[in-house]
Amino acid sequence: MSRIHIEAASKRFDKVTAVDQVTLDIEHGEFLVLLGPSGCGKSTLLRAIAGLTPLTEGRITLGDKDITHTPPRDRDLAMVFQSYALYPHLSVARNIGFPLRARRRPKAEIREKVEQVARTLDLSALLDRRPRELSGGQRQRVALGRALVRDPGAFLMDEPLSNLDAKLRTATRAELSELHRRLGSTFVYVTHDQVEAMTMATRIALLNGGKLEQVGSPTEVYDRPASAFVAGFLGSPAMNLLDARVVSREGRLHAVAEDVDVALDITGELSDQDSQDVVLGIRPEHLRIGGAHPGLRGVVRLVENLGSEELAHVVVGDARVCLRGSRPLDLATGDAVTLSAAPQHIHLFHRESGKRLVW
Ligand code: ADP
Repeated sequence: MSRIHIEAASKRFDKVTAVDQVTLDIEHGEFLVLLGPSGCGKSTLLRAIAGLTPLTEGRITLGDKDITHTPPRDRDLAMVFQSYALYPHLSVARNIGFPLRARRRPKAEIREKVEQVARTLDLSALLDRRPRELSGGQRQRVALGRALVRDPGAFLMDEPLSNLDAKLRTATRAELSELHRRLGSTFVYVTHDQVEAMTMATRIALLNGGKLEQVGSPTEVYDRPASAFVAGFLGSPAMNLLDARVVSREGRLHAVAEDVDVALDITGELSDQDSQDVVLGIRPEHLRIGGAHPGLRGVVRLVENLGSEELAHVVVGDARVCLRGSRPLDLATGDAVTLSAAPQHIHLFHRESGKRLVW
């Protein structure tokens, strides 16, 4: 199977531009997650790859074959929907075997393939049941089985875990990662859930308003978000973002705001324009109580017990930040605190464009 190449793809519905000039290469064997908030164009892009939604502009190639106008059934791609789309009157075996029957494959081959897929997905004991006799997780595996049986060039999945309860979702997440490793095929997976993206993806493509905001490994997008939007989307809770100004003081740059004064470890120079208004970003797990620099001065508003950790909400100037750390944090509502972060954990973004400032 070969690479999926998406070039300058756009999709407009009347006045809405759902996908806006997206260029993206998906390599063979990747688990690529299309991530972003509701309405950012993830499903539309996935459906365009599947051939279910024609593009307004742009091209999609599979290997060296241009599939922009190829009907879905000739694309060698299998789609797994959120709703599972199982046939209620057919047994599990017949649901899984359906794509092969539609292609008029010999009966013996169908039986053998269905049994093989059922073994892979631990469905062998359920082959005679109807979908209504299955749990949500089992139905989800049958939907996967129906995709798997075709041995497609790539699997396209649209929020396949969103109908499962939290515990089952965590278990199925791990199963999907394992399945991906075992099959070695390409998975393109849509979700708005950053935990799913972080845990399963080999690469994340983050969309915002139909445009690609950043593409990278989970570690890259988490550790070096390309924009304040990406920073504010990933993490639990997401990165603290504060409006600040960069000022030079005694040869050193500081990010300052009301009750904020953070010394920056900047080796390069910020241009005159950039050295004005910025967005200062610090992840909740990187904030420490106390520290050498003036840091962030605030008052604790609330402390939440997460079990193994605690989450403190602290009002700093006219902003609010979260601090996450091992329990107990030894903080109580009303405490005055000073917070700091190591220089390597301080992110700066351009106030206007939201883009990361490289230093
Ligand atoms: P996501 O999957 O990220 O939630 P979608 O791709 O479903 O986003 O939608 C992107 C945008 O396109 C949204 O504003 C949505 O309302 C719009 N949209 C999607 N499908 C259609 C459609 N068939 N007709 C009109 N607008 C649509």
